Amino acid sequence: MRINVFTLFPEVFQPYLETSILHRAIQSQLVQVNLHNIRDWATDRHHVTDDEPYGGGGGMVMKPEPIFAAIEGTLGVEPDCPVVLLTPQGRLLDQSIAYELSYQPELALLSGRYEGVDERVRQYLVTDEISIGDYVLSGGELPAMVLIDAVVRLLPGALGDPTGALDDSHASGLLEYPHYTRPSEFRGWGVPEVLTSGDHARVARWRREQALLRTYLRRPDLLASAELSDEDRAYLDKFTQDEAMKDQPTDERK
Ligand code: SAM
Repeated sequence: MRINVFTLFPEVFQPYLETSILHRAIQSQLVQVNLHNIRDWATDRHHVTDDEPYGGGGGMVMKPEPIFAAIEGTLGVEPDCPVVLLTPQGRLLDQSIAYELSYQPELALLSGRYEGVDERVRQYLVTDEISIGDYVLSGGELPAMVLIDAVVRLLPGALGDPTGALDDSHASGLLEYPHYTRPSEFRGWGVPEVLTSGDHARVARWRREQALLRTYLRRPDLLASAELSDEDRAYLDKFTQDEAMKDQPTDERK
């Protein structure tokens, strides 16, 4: 996969791209991340990339010419890949969007700054708009990095453990079960007995139940679209009945 990032601040990407999973994915040529400085495509003497907004008001707007020049000069006049604008007005990034983008052989990511990009960039160049959450950051560099990380870890071979991403929260519609590691006792706090039992079937069932429970307690909205087996449903029904019974007066619990 090839990811082209168009930004005014390419230097902020480098440290993260040279760390851990992303670094390994780049080294093993699973992904190539090309950083393009939009400023290099501004043709005036001072390489100006922003200007005041028509209609007045505060802030600056990213000019269309250098952005069109950068993307078209790099990928051709009608790029053969999604051109994604990072914007708080886009569709909200989630795991299914990360999967969707991970199947693309090439992506172009456009990071905005200031008040954002000239609207004609969005209308005539951009093909997709993605937000990383309902809040506003100063620039699209962190959002682009978030998107790159979420997508690259899904590429086959990116994670040391090939099944690693399958149990991750949101991969199957549930939140992931809790994890423990050595020591088995820390400050008097132990580890659930089942995890040290060596009984793989029991461990798998416990993890599934914990995932169901966590999702039910923290993000019940996710359960509506999660794939649940009859056994899962029976577990959740029993849990909710037990909870309901706790709220009943003692004599009605019988
Ligand atoms: N004036 C814009 C608005 O209200 O929609 C916000 C501009 S923001 C200060 C500057 C840039 O940061 C945006 O062009 C976008 O690229 C990026 N950005 C900020 N928040 C974001 C978010 N939640 N998701 C994706 N990109 C974001």
